[in-house]
Amino acid sequence: MAIIEVTGLRKAYGATAAVDGVSFAVEEGEIFGILGPNGAGKTTTVECVEGLRIPDAGTVRVAGLDPVADHERVTRILGAQLQESDLQPKLTVREALELYAAFYPKPADWRPLAERLGLTPKLTTRFAKLSGGQKQRLFIALALIGNPRVVVLDELTTGLDPRARRDTWSLIEEIRDSGVTVLLVTHFMEEAQRLCDRIAVIDKGKVAALDSPAGLIGRSTASTVISFTPSRPLDDQELAGLPQAASVETKGDRVVINGTDETVNAVISLLVRHRVTAHQLRVTEATLDDAFLDLTETETASAPAAETATDADQPEERV
Ligand code: ADP
Repeated sequence: MAIIEVTGLRKAYGATAAVDGVSFAVEEGEIFGILGPNGAGKTTTVECVEGLRIPDAGTVRVAGLDPVADHERVTRILGAQLQESDLQPKLTVREALELYAAFYPKPADWRPLAERLGLTPKLTTRFAKLSGGQKQRLFIALALIGNPRVVVLDELTTGLDPRARRDTWSLIEEIRDSGVTVLLVTHFMEEAQRLCDRIAVIDKGKVAALDSPAGLIGRSTASTVISFTPSRPLDDQELAGLPQAASVETKGDRVVINGTDETVNAVISLLVRHRVTAHQLRVTEATLDDAFLDLTETETASAPAAETATDADQPEERV
């Protein structure tokens, strides 16, 4: 069952179409990623899901409810991550947990939650004195304190060192395993590839692709890169005619072919047929990075975005 349904969502700030016809559905129990470069429209999309912005067109439903009209009920189902500026620097971890628990009719007990997130030793520490990773863990705790069915985490690991980022990833997996659906906004490929069950790639306000990480990589025209130095030159035409070969390049004495698994087998057969030895043969898998570039490049070619700001592009306050 879909817990979040977004259909034909549009939101403009003045002349800038930040979100331009976005549709996706998040199934209960999954980690759903919204991946895209800065300025793609990710935050605007999730702010509409959270009921913090009013869409210009399209519909958003959270467990069947309208996040603007049924805001109160939606806040009990959907836990949103706070921004740093939302917390007083002098508030201690314990005070923040107690304060936010008081906002909900049936909050989670904050003690086990603090324990689970490794915050127990920091209960008397003021927010301003926490490290980046500790602040993020507190934000996760506050997003979970109302016992939500779905939690929205926006650029949670930005600014964290690699160790703290990996710890946060484990926490996100634990949240999903405890039955809470996660809507994760990120511009880190590795994070999306590692954590998400499905990903909507957003670029220039539109969904460029929606699939599992493996599906997105497979969808790319060049999921495998084959490179080698042949013991004697090969016929370019014959190489270009290999099945599924997306591109063939000769770089000095090396041949580099982008293709699929099928291309690898065909290259080996061709080498055997011509009794050519391949020195330093390398076969590497494309990553989500490659797939992302491939997917967003197509989008760039077909739909150039209006980059120029106008007088109408005034910052808009959230509701
Ligand atoms: P992302 O989260 O992917 O970085 P955003 O949703 O924040 O993207 O922004 C999408 C576009 O909308 C950008 O061009 C951004 O400059 C613009 N934008 C975002 N928030 C505002 C705002 N409050 N007022 C005006 N323009 C905004």
